[in-house]
Amino acid sequence: MKILLLGKNGQVGWELQRSLAPLGEVISLDRNGLDQWCGDLSQPDQVYQTILDISPDVVVNASAYTAVDLAETEKNAADMVNHRAVQKIAEACAQIKALLLHYSTDYVFDGDGTSAFTESDLLKPLNVYGQTKALGEQAIQNAQCNYLIFRTSWVFAQKGKNFLKTMLALAQQREELSIIDDQIGAPTSAELIADVSAHAIIHTLRDPSKTGIYHLVASGETSWFEYANYIFQQAQNLGADLALKKVNAIPTKAYPTPAKRPHNSRLNNQKIQHTFQVCLPDWKLHVQRTVIEVLGK
Ligand code: NDP
Repeated sequence: MKILLLGKNGQVGWELQRSLAPLGEVISLDRNGLDQWCGDLSQPDQVYQTILDISPDVVVNASAYTAVDLAETEKNAADMVNHRAVQKIAEACAQIKALLLHYSTDYVFDGDGTSAFTESDLLKPLNVYGQTKALGEQAIQNAQCNYLIFRTSWVFAQKGKNFLKTMLALAQQREELSIIDDQIGAPTSAELIADVSAHAIIHTLRDPSKTGIYHLVASGETSWFEYANYIFQQAQNLGADLALKKVNAIPTKAYPTPAKRPHNSRLNNQKIQHTFQVCLPDWKLHVQRTVIEVLGK
């Protein structure tokens, strides 16, 4: 089997390099490309041609414009990577009959209410990033290719920039931190996303009726405030030298950002567990592992 991985150096892309390796030949690209091949999603026509040239059985797109606040002022750049390039990728996959695995986000929803969103709930993004990701999803669905779209949330990993690593760094520098406690979701590790992705690819190639949209998030739920406290507690248990003495819980309105964020980021993950017979562990499991890895303990 031949797999083309786009976005190989992102949090999820990096873990996919590991998890896809046992499946077959993996050609991994980042925005710099490789030889004549283009992995830069700001050049959709070249990426389209690259997919036709390589002619893989599976395309995994882990690249995305993920700067949520910057997207408010860089709408065209975000739309190019998250929507227009995704449309071309999906069209290329339809042309060569490749399976496309793509990632989306909890930010396609408006975050109203307190129950977990299901795959069929109405898309109503609150910010530009969410709008472009929703348009990317719709473009894939219109392209007549075989696809898997995995919506995830609050991604963290040892490699890359994320909340977990920011909190560990701040706890070593500052005595007091204020953290939002009225946004609820599930921190999900790039490692888990990549492992389930590899598993789902095998199952979907065997049974194409499994194509569709799924919520791929760890089980359980938490707020940013509780999540941060869990990280600090784990770090303390490992004997890390923290400067932190006080952690304040604050509402979203006390920390204004250019992009509006949903209060309720809960995603129901029953469908993916049932369809692919996987068990998604509680978010704390991979947070524990990653704190150990980041602190080098
Ligand atoms: P990262 O930001 O870690 O990685 C995104 C990758 O996309 C980076 O390697 C980046 O490259 C690459 N990229 C950006 N622009 C381009 C471009 N023009 N051409 C080629 N590559 C480009 O994201 P994650 O791994 O965390 O996200 C994976 C998926 O999960 C994405 O679809 C994202 O929308 C989704 N998601 C992520 C969440 C999160 O909390 N991070 C939450 C919910 C969903 P470079 O480093 O060179 O810029």
